[in-house]
Amino acid sequence: MLQMKRYDVLVIGARCAGAATAMLMARRGLRVLAVDRGGYGEDTLSTHALMRGAVLQLHRWGLLPRLQALGTPPVRRTTFHYGDEAVAVDIRPSDGVDALYAPRRTILDSVLVDAACEAGVEIRHHHSLAALVRDGERVRGAVIMDERQQPLRIEAGLVVGADGVGSTVARLVDAPMTRQAAHTSSVLYGYWSGLAAQGYHWHYRDGASVGVIETNAAQHCVFAAVPPSRFRGDLLRDPVAGYHRVLREVSPALGEAVEAATPASRIWPFAGRKGFFRRATGPGWALVGDAGYFKDPITAHGITDALRDAELLADAAAAGTEAALARYAALRDELSLPLFEATDAIASFDWDMPTLERLHKALNQAMKHEVAQLLARGEPPVVSPVECVRTASPPALHAGGL
Ligand SMILES: Cc1cc2nc3c(=O)[nH]c(=O)nc-3n(C[C@H](O)[C@H](O)[C@H](O)COP(=O)(O)OP(=O)(O)OC[C@H]3O[C@@H](n4cnc5c(N)ncnc54)[C@H](O)[C@@H]3O)c2cc1C
Repeated sequence: MLQMKRYDVLVIGARCAGAATAMLMARRGLRVLAVDRGGYGEDTLSTHALMRGAVLQLHRWGLLPRLQALGTPPVRRTTFHYGDEAVAVDIRPSDGVDALYAPRRTILDSVLVDAACEAGVEIRHHHSLAALVRDGERVRGAVIMDERQQPLRIEAGLVVGADGVGSTVARLVDAPMTRQAAHTSSVLYGYWSGLAAQGYHWHYRDGASVGVIETNAAQHCVFAAVPPSRFRGDLLRDPVAGYHRVLREVSPALGEAVEAATPASRIWPFAGRKGFFRRATGPGWALVGDAGYFKDPITAHGITDALRDAELLADAAAAGTEAALARYAALRDELSLPLFEATDAIASFDWDMPTLERLHKALNQAMKHEVAQLLARGEPPVVSPVECVRTASPPALHAGGL
């Protein structure tokens, strides 16, 4: 081993869940190291529509002006298209949120990493988790491989797995899966310049859903979601033609507009993955974001939940007791379950339009509850930023794809 260092918390994974969790823990006075095997500002396989809970968090943490300054357009209206019927919902200004936003992940994740660094987090990209260090059942740290594949031994009071759906932390601690979804959707998405649509548009027809998300650089992210059986059948054979076919089927006007627009990326496929809950905490470890709880992207809520749970976990870690960690786990499950169940029902594609509207109302209720819980936590701590030494170059703000 080259080095041994001690921290209060070691966070594995430094994207929306990990960077936010690390930042909030450092703002609460903890000494934090965050590592990620990827690079600073890289893109990832994900669309990025934020819901009110996420925007509220970014506002409460003082980060919304940074996203706005980087040209992230405000989304002031969400339009649900149930077949040919359109239901427009204006975003009601409240509690510092007067619009939604859909920043590219290159931008959102870098803003969170920068803020974590300014809060005093030591951040190392191109560093990956190799093994956990234990003392009996309790996790006491980890072995991290640096960018030259040299091992670093890190001791930490808490190791946080924010390392995404395929979490190595979850595997190494053998975190049990406590619930699994029944359904999944498959998604194709790409970026387009020259579309006029404003805000978010969610379109539904039998057996398919498409969406338009206004984002940075005057581009729109346009996705098509279908059941995996159709994805594996006619779509995978020719994903680009299949993507355009689904858009035209669900919304002929959107299909035509996208065909006339300028492509700003390739078309990205996501075959689908069933949602799950994993146990969120154990002796010396905790999971946050997709590592601990994943749901189908059809309701575009994963980032919002990651930013919500980052704060619940940071508060628990600052309290520093097993009881506080147990409360984090319980609250995560309580807030997530209704979102998870409605998402699973929508991902089944087994609905007619009135059923879908009911499911959206249930989602809306769950989101209101989530927002109320966040507001009830009061003002987050204010901290003076420390000087942040960059270890990597700034991201390509308008990266066209992965
Ligand atoms: C197709 C698709 C569309 C989506 N659309 C939306 C949407 O519109 N809105 C929304 O809110 N959500 C959306 N989501 C969900 C969203 O992408 C996730 O919920 C979100 O990325 C979770 O963030 P995370 O930080 O937990 O994990 P990730 O973003 O997966 O980050 C995990 C990080 O951990 C690092 N890592 C992994 N293993 C290791 C290791 N061993 N050592 C070190 N580092 C490691 C990885 O490099 C990565 O940077 C979508 C998902 C998909 C697949």
